[in-house]
Amino acid sequence: MKIQLTTQGSKKVRQGYPLIQKEDLAKGEMTTDWVELTSPQGDFLAMGYLGKQNKGLGWVLSDKKQAIDENFFVRLFQKAKMNRQVYYQDQTTTAFRLFNGEGDGLGGLIIDLYQDYAVFSWYNDTLYGKKATIIQAFQKVFPEVLGAYEKVRFESQLPESQLLYGQTASEPLIVQENGINYATYMNEGLMTGIFLDQKEVRGALVDGLASGKTVLNMFSYTGAFSVAAAMGGALQTTSVDLAKRSVPKTKEQFSVNGVDPETQNIHVMDTFEYFKYAKRKHLTFDLVVLDPPSFARNKKKTFSVAKNYGELIEDSVNLLNQNGMIIASTNAANVSPKQFKQMIEEAFLAKGVSYKKVKSYALPSDFATIATFPEGDYLKVYCYEVKK
Ligand code: SAH
Repeated sequence: MKIQLTTQGSKKVRQGYPLIQKEDLAKGEMTTDWVELTSPQGDFLAMGYLGKQNKGLGWVLSDKKQAIDENFFVRLFQKAKMNRQVYYQDQTTTAFRLFNGEGDGLGGLIIDLYQDYAVFSWYNDTLYGKKATIIQAFQKVFPEVLGAYEKVRFESQLPESQLLYGQTASEPLIVQENGINYATYMNEGLMTGIFLDQKEVRGALVDGLASGKTVLNMFSYTGAFSVAAAMGGALQTTSVDLAKRSVPKTKEQFSVNGVDPETQNIHVMDTFEYFKYAKRKHLTFDLVVLDPPSFARNKKKTFSVAKNYGELIEDSVNLLNQNGMIIASTNAANVSPKQFKQMIEEAFLAKGVSYKKVKSYALPSDFATIATFPEGDYLKVYCYEVKK
């Protein structure tokens, strides 16, 4: 089937932009078939598909006229596997991203590896409808994967998480990253217990960044940064998260690494409440890690990285020791690296402290991105030395 794009939409596709948006469609019709995208004049532009997802209405698959069939997916998966040989060869890391959507040539599907298990995340119903072919291709290229789970990340009546094929994984499933154990769960809602895009930051904490320091980990989730810091020789860690489940989850992350959780602090608390609490108790830290969600709503306050990150920095500076460090992280795609840096540094200036950016991190190579889709390159992590 042929789908006509507008002049503007055609221009975007010709420039290599992979996402199709509503305004790019000349006629607005939808289909679940693979499509040939054409210009208003009817010239072939690319192969693709239409599928409504959180952002956008479809994806470009190839600028060559070709069949989108099992062989097409086999080739994509083979290439993705080849590009991740560093991770396959690294005996100390058993969890990483196998396939990163548009970055690997197929927007709408992400696949992560957790030891012997794969987790598929589907972002639209059209691709989900093609899953038999896609799984067949995947199993040809990754026969060593014992079982797979799927997460449904589009609006539907389907369960958000279920076994897709093969064997079930143990609960927890212990995976390794930079030699550290992490307890993960393949079938508990959309999240598994670890965000694989932060592996280099956790690696730096393990490798000495936290050594001899007291560490405050804000928005700690399952405490992965705290565990990496503790394993890297931190004097003590404090983890703060609003969610009650974060306590047993964080304790478990310490336990699976042989660290007694009772030697660490874990608080179920709103971050801004914790800042006040710590001030009252005169608690101070050498290293503060800030990795909030892009948006968060709680009873009193809506937090957004774009608006409120500076407050987090200012409040963190208050709790820092004289020579401290802040690891400022965000996954907000709507905040550019430049804007993020500016928000952080304005907050330092407002507090009258001197600062130096000593290291920055972006997505690791398993989170493949393409230059023509800069919003896919969402992760920004900056380490600042701060002198009070
Ligand atoms: N830094 C974590 C991931 C954070 S995910 C890691 O690397 O693993 C975001 C977390 O922020 C969630 O666990 C959520 O419960 C928590 N959160 C959201 N709003 C919060 C708030 N106001 N105060 C504290 N935690 C909050």
